[in-house]
Amino acid sequence: MATVLLVEDDPSILRGLEMNLKIDGLRVLSATDGVAAVRAARAAMPDLIILDLGLPSMDGFDVLREVRKDDPDVPILVLSARASEAEKVLGLSLGADDYVTKPFGLAELLARVRALLRRTRRREADAVVAFGPVSIDVVARVVRVNNEPVEVTALEFDLLRYLTDQPMRAVTREQIMQAVWGAGHAGTPRTVDNFIARLRSKIGDDPADPKFIETVRGVGYRFNPG
Ligand code: CA
Repeated sequence: MATVLLVEDDPSILRGLEMNLKIDGLRVLSATDGVAAVRAARAAMPDLIILDLGLPSMDGFDVLREVRKDDPDVPILVLSARASEAEKVLGLSLGADDYVTKPFGLAELLARVRALLRRTRRREADAVVAFGPVSIDVVARVVRVNNEPVEVTALEFDLLRYLTDQPMRAVTREQIMQAVWGAGHAGTPRTVDNFIARLRSKIGDDPADPKFIETVRGVGYRFNPG
């Protein structure tokens, strides 16, 4: 059973949401001010946090910062009457995963909660990806070859994850750039090739006859878990 930490100082919203989350099969903990929220997040390590921004004792944005410092992975859904774009952007840049403005539709909120929880469960299920002598600890972001940690940069790690996330699927260099470098990147297809070459050498994949990161002629690359 997944645990949700519900942070809300409005008693009627708190009660209503608490009831509906429980009906949805979730365990619900609640906090009605910011300091209590940070404490509860630390102590209970919930699977999801629903966070109001206007809170007594500590602003929701500060709660968000504090919680993210301790736990980079817990999904946080901000639920706020602050509907300006600037505040949404700030919330998301501080590490919120979703932002719902009040007044909100209950069905939509519950659907978003379920979506965030599904994402976490998938992440936990895939916490270690292993192929040949290679293992990737997704949570710790550590790559090991024959149990020895190998140094990879953040981009190399993201690239490796992108490929291993979709085994046996050919992806183009453009798709890789979009997904790993993001929109507005300055890279060229050649950049991708250079990164692939480095990754292959780091995971011990023979560039002349790669077993794991295969070249798909005229297309791009394909991860083959073997
Ligand atoms: Ca409030």
